[in-house]
Amino acid sequence: MHTQDSTREASSEVEGAVRRTDVVIIGAGLAGSVAASTLARAGIDVVVIDAAAVVPPSLRAEKLGTPILALFDRLGLGETVRAAATPISSVWIARFGRVMTRRTRREYAFAYKDLVTALRAVLPERAELRFGRVTDIASGADLQRVTLSDGSVVEGRLLIVATGPGAAIHRRVGIDIVDAQRDHSICIGFYLEAPPAAFPFESIVYYGERWNDRVSYISLFPIGSRMRANLFVYREHDEPWIQAFRADPAETLRRTLPNLERVCGPIEIAGNLDIRPIDLRQTQGHERAGVVLIGDAYCTSCPVSGTGMHKALIDVERLCREYVPAWLATPGMDADKISTFYADTVKTEFDRNSLAISNRLRGLAVGRGARWRVSRAAAKARSACAFTVHRCAHFAAVMAAPVTEFLERI
Ligand SMILES: Cc1cc2nc3c(=O)[nH]c(=O)nc-3n(C[C@H](O)[C@H](O)[C@H](O)COP(=O)(O)OP(=O)(O)OC[C@H]3O[C@@H](n4cnc5c(N)ncnc54)[C@H](O)[C@@H]3O)c2cc1C
Repeated sequence: MHTQDSTREASSEVEGAVRRTDVVIIGAGLAGSVAASTLARAGIDVVVIDAAAVVPPSLRAEKLGTPILALFDRLGLGETVRAAATPISSVWIARFGRVMTRRTRREYAFAYKDLVTALRAVLPERAELRFGRVTDIASGADLQRVTLSDGSVVEGRLLIVATGPGAAIHRRVGIDIVDAQRDHSICIGFYLEAPPAAFPFESIVYYGERWNDRVSYISLFPIGSRMRANLFVYREHDEPWIQAFRADPAETLRRTLPNLERVCGPIEIAGNLDIRPIDLRQTQGHERAGVVLIGDAYCTSCPVSGTGMHKALIDVERLCREYVPAWLATPGMDADKISTFYADTVKTEFDRNSLAISNRLRGLAVGRGARWRVSRAAAKARSACAFTVHRCAHFAAVMAAPVTEFLERI
């Protein structure tokens, strides 16, 4: 462990209702649970507090690919993630209403609550998980004191806020959350009636057919024995289209993506829709003594870009591997120490790229002006070329098959 001797002695000590630890984390979602695991594995004593003892169902990330899995592997949690998820090995990509490519691609799909529950279940002994409502926080350059509604107090040298997009804890520590982009996009999640075996593909990413349908894409993929859909649209939450979708989702989908059923087969929707408007949010005044923000608590990202989990894990890896051990090894936890994390080049570059991808995808789908019209025309031309090459390769393979068979026989 890299803490000072005095802190080491104080670790794990409980005095009356006061629990002393090295690091207090508020929020045991993706970022908080992985941060607690990472610190505890490094020998750092952690108490992680969450308002919810049972992780509630919530529309969040539902699929991840190999780069994110590689990060989980580096943080020692890859096997936990694999065990909680449905593996997928191939994906079709459809643009402009037709299948462009069929790719081998390893991905893992899951219900977010199952993933977080699994991550919580493997917290090492040094990470204590507590449930409760935070009623008070006193933060400063030496000690952070968190009071829960049952009167218990947790004290640590550092407070990590990993509370996702909510603002309650930010307000308590005097950090502002501002809207960088309101109504950036809407994510809609639902299950399909038909099981995965009824579809001609294992998973598909089907992009909007026309520029004015304001659809980024719909993705269909298996979670367990059911077929899940994530639809991403650039619309405002009170638009008539959203009301029409709520009233008759299958019909609205058919009108919006007229070729979807030709590619996928019949789409019937089962159960409830989960419709979640996305505002991009960021924090201001976060360079404060004793407190550091990670994951969505630092800034949210657009789900269309699929970078939110990666961003949260980069925060965890950089903070918990690089900064926290060094911070605990010297006295104090002033704002200058904390700001070194926010200036980390790996983190800042990833955050910047994530925002740039979101803006580019939105611009390509709904952007006005010459720049976006040219980009759209170029994308369409590229797709047409890719489609022609794909078809020619397919035709050549079909034509060559009898010849190959004949040659093998002689
Ligand atoms: C609709 C949608 C779709 C998405 N799709 C993708 C995708 O495809 N790919 C991708 O990479 N990312 C996606 N994301 C983003 C990704 O899900 C998030 O970036 C990631 O889950 C953030 O994790 P987190 O730990 O920061 O927050 P969370 O997982 O939300 O964790 C926050 C935790 O804090 C707790 N908490 C909150 N307030 C308090 C409080 N006051 N006291 C105590 N505890 C509290 C909560 O109970 C929760 O457990 C999507 C997001 C949304 C909204």
